[in-house]
Amino acid sequence: MGATIQALLDLQEVELQVADIRRQVASREKRVAAQAARVQAGQKELAAHRDQTRALQIEFDALDLDIKSRNTSVAKLREQLNAVRTNKEYQAILSEMNNARAEIARVEARGMEMMQQIETRKGEAETRAAQIAVEETRLSELRGELERAQQSFSERLSRLNAQRDAAAAKVHPEVLKQFNRLSERFDGEVMARVSRPNPRRDEFICEGCNMSVSAERASALMSRDDVTTCGHCGRILHIARGA
Ligand SMILES: [Zn+2]
Repeated sequence: MGATIQALLDLQEVELQVADIRRQVASREKRVAAQAARVQAGQKELAAHRDQTRALQIEFDALDLDIKSRNTSVAKLREQLNAVRTNKEYQAILSEMNNARAEIARVEARGMEMMQQIETRKGEAETRAAQIAVEETRLSELRGELERAQQSFSERLSRLNAQRDAAAAKVHPEVLKQFNRLSERFDGEVMARVSRPNPRRDEFICEGCNMSVSAERASALMSRDDVTTCGHCGRILHIARGA
């Protein structure tokens, strides 16, 4: 194998590792974003839940006031009862009082129901808040993992950059340009090996696309350090001597 092709293979190795690092960072970033969204959604739901509970509490407080004022009315009726002169009046006020008491009992029952509802909702809110706290802990763990990964990757990336510079120095600038263009297109997988699937046949294929490569081209690749691209996929071809 010629020096240029070897340098290009080294470059590709660097590109693939860089692409892999980028993928890993991106997937960790995605995990962090998804977890942050989960926490945010939970907080939003909890806030809405608490708002509803507060509205219920306001309704309950109004009901409580209503009961108090109804009780005051009943007390007034009781006073009137002491002052009546006729049995007819007495019966009328007594009936009014009974009606008012029945109404109070009804409103109180409703109030009791609401109070229970409010207590249940407060319990639910606590459970939800605890769940959110768990999700928040997970989020900060994921953020920590991402930071540590970025830290270790940045060290690896600077080593890879040095390797890339060393390999690039061995390649003609035009070839380097071509390589970088292809790297962009194939996500770092620029080099394609030419292989001979059947050792008894003089047929060669590009492993990048599995299409055939002529025998003349294959033998030229074996004997020279030329940069040639596959006519089908466009990757730079290389071949092991004696393939
Ligand atoms: Zn190909």
